[in-house]
Order: sequence, then C-alpha cells, then structure tokens
Amino acid sequence: MSASDFDPPSSPPYPQTAAVQPALDIPPGFRAFPQATHRGSTVLFNNLHELRAYGRADSPYWRYGLHGTPTSEALCQQLAQIEGGSHALLLPSGLAAISLVYFAFLKAGDDVLVPDNAYGPTCDHGAWLARDFGITMRRYDPMIGAGIADLIRPETRLIWIEAPGSVTMEVPDVPGIVAAARARGVRTAIDNTWAAGLVFKPFTHGVDISVQALTKYQSGGSDVLMGATIVNDEALQDRLVLTRMRMGWGVSSDDCYLVLRGLQTMPVRIAAHDRAARELAEWLGQRPEIARVLHPALPDCPGHEIWKRDFTGATGLFSVLFQPQYTQAQIDAFIEGLRHFAIGFSWGGAHSLALPYDVPSMRTASAWPPEGKPAGGLVRFYVGLEDPRDLIADVRQSLEAHLR
Ligand SMILES: *Cc1c(COP(=O)(O)O)cnc(C)c1O
Repeated sequence: MSASDFDPPSSPPYPQTAAVQPALDIPPGFRAFPQATHRGSTVLFNNLHELRAYGRADSPYWRYGLHGTPTSEALCQQLAQIEGGSHALLLPSGLAAISLVYFAFLKAGDDVLVPDNAYGPTCDHGAWLARDFGITMRRYDPMIGAGIADLIRPETRLIWIEAPGSVTMEVPDVPGIVAAARARGVRTAIDNTWAAGLVFKPFTHGVDISVQALTKYQSGGSDVLMGATIVNDEALQDRLVLTRMRMGWGVSSDDCYLVLRGLQTMPVRIAAHDRAARELAEWLGQRPEIARVLHPALPDCPGHEIWKRDFTGATGLFSVLFQPQYTQAQIDAFIEGLRHFAIGFSWGGAHSLALPYDVPSMRTASAWPPEGKPAGGLVRFYVGLEDPRDLIADVRQSLEAHLR
C-alpha cells in the first residue's frame, strides 16, 4: 500500500486503529497568508524505492523531520534571500550555529583566528576546542584589517569576524580581512547578528559563511531561540548540512513559524530601533557623565568610517563609556535605577535593555579602552520599541539620581 492512496479498510477498524488513522490529505481550496506549520518527525515515503534512494539524484527531498520540513525550508529561503545568500540552515540557537561552523570547518591540527570583539561564547568555544580537541585558537585585534595577513599560518583554516562586535561596537574592515584570507585560501565566517543580515551584506564582500542569532531581530518577540548559517556556495552548504546531520541538531516547525511571523515586520522594526537608538546615543553624547558613545553611526566609534563605507544602516544596540571617575557601583546604581530598560541577556525584542560589561577581562590581543579620550566602565543599551522620548527621560532621571 502506498501512503498517498491510503484506502479505507472495508470493515470499520477497531477504535484504537481508527484513533491513529493518518489524515493524509491537505484539503484543496484552502488559502491563507500564514506559512503552514508542517509538524513531522516521521516523513512518509511512497514506496521502498524512494526510501532506498538516499544520496541519489532521484532521492525524495524530505526524509526525516530532524533534517527539515516545508516550514523550516520556507524560513531558510527567506533568510537566504534577505542576506543575499543562496542557502540557509537552521540551528536550535545562535550559539549552535557558531558551533556548527567550528565543527564543519576545523579538525585537529587546524588553526582558527577569533577577534577580540567577538561574542563571548564564540571565544569560549574556540578555547574549548583548543584545550580538548587539538586545534589552536588565537585572538586578534578587531581593527587589524589587512594586517591579518601577518597572523595567517599554513594551518589556519578559519577566521571569525564580528561586524560590529556586539559589546564594544568596533567595526572591522571586512573587505580588508577577507582579501587577506582569500589570498591564502582561508575561509571567513561572520557573526552578522547585529546587522540582522539586513544592513550589512557579507557575501558582497566575499565572506564565506554568515551566522545569525535568529533569537534576536528575526524573532523579534524575545520568545524563541534559533540560529542560522547562510552561505552563497553549494559546496559549503553541503558540508554544513552533513555536519548538522551528524550532530543531530534540528529545530521545531512551531518555532520556525514564530520566526517567519517575526520576519514579516523585521525591516520596519529595525528602522524604528535604528532611529530611536541614534536619538538616544546622540543625546548621551551631550551628557557630561559620558566619555564616549560607541555607536557605529557616530564618529567616536572605532570603525565609524568603515561603517559609513560598508553598511546601509544601523540597528538598536550600542554602548557608552562613562567618565573614568565613576565607580562600578555608581554605574550599577544607574542601570538599576532605569525604569524602561530591563536587565537581561539577548535583545531584538520590543523591550529596551541595559547591561554593564567588564571589557578589559574580555580582551587578550588588543588594548582597551580604544585610543583617544580616557574612559571608564561600559554600559550596553538595547533600544526597543518604546517612544524614545520616554527612554531619554528615563536615562536622564537615573543619571541625575546616581552619578552626581
Ligand atoms: C545572541 C547572540 C548570539 C547567540 O545567540 P543565541 O540564540 O542566544 O545562542 C551569537 N552572536 C551574537 C552577536 C549574539 O548577540
């Protein structure tokens, strides 16, 4: 019997059999805007020939729920289209996408370069592989640009880039790093979460692999964890697909549906985050308590000129450095005194957030603070979708209450 022409048995089945009859037909004539949520661990084959065709050209596209469903495929296609790549792959978190890139492209004996402005767990992951899996990991100054050529060794296989780093906001010279890497046959991977694949297009600069934490702007609801890799090359995709399969990493179609729903409004949300964040950042730049505003669109940010050259916009995340005379206790009191900015990790949702970071403890290859004005503690702001007038009033009241 084939699954597609399931014949009802001639006599009525016993109740338990009736209870598990598969509902195989998608009713014709029903149309609606939402992408259908196709749930399925078991994916049905029409016959054993199809089942045995695995790996051949006539292999059926769908094999097992872990590897993808029409819902996850719809999300992959949209993500690839937004970022300008050819293929995307979904992972259970942004960090799992980072991990996938490490495992797909490195083996014992290989060397990886990680910038000092990278997402903390990206550095930690590399350090773990170096400790227990026989690779070497070296950190580099994110502002190194074409100078990365001097760090490349024969065994270097992968260079991570983060543009901008999501705490220090330093904007690296991506084309400079990529040209040096390509000249030596080294792959580059970018964590493009800040730009959401929208305001920076890594494939136009020759980057091989882009990683996104869909947990952030794509979901937009602070309620889903998901990540993606995006590439513009079929061979790279094949390698990522195989590694993901061996790891057993998949995502649920219900979560994909939530991200698809968020994606519909992502560009207009990001435009609103960008406007409000620049307004707050510019206001903070006028305050006597603030030594330096680290927002890629403002001139005090390392790499601002690169941002102007390579980016088409900004998003909702930026940092400030306080004047050096303020203690961490005062800065902490300022954060805890905010009413509209919550304390918590992750960002990309409707609600604003603020967090302190101890940057010197996160750096190994470059100095902090950046050259220029003396500066103290760093606070990172995520600007949500509240009215910026309320956010500015809130920051003002907490500065005046705690930093006098
Ligand atoms: C949040 C984040 C990640 C990790 O995403 P998760 O889904 O939380 O694992 C990776 N990189 C950057 C820059 C992030 O902000």
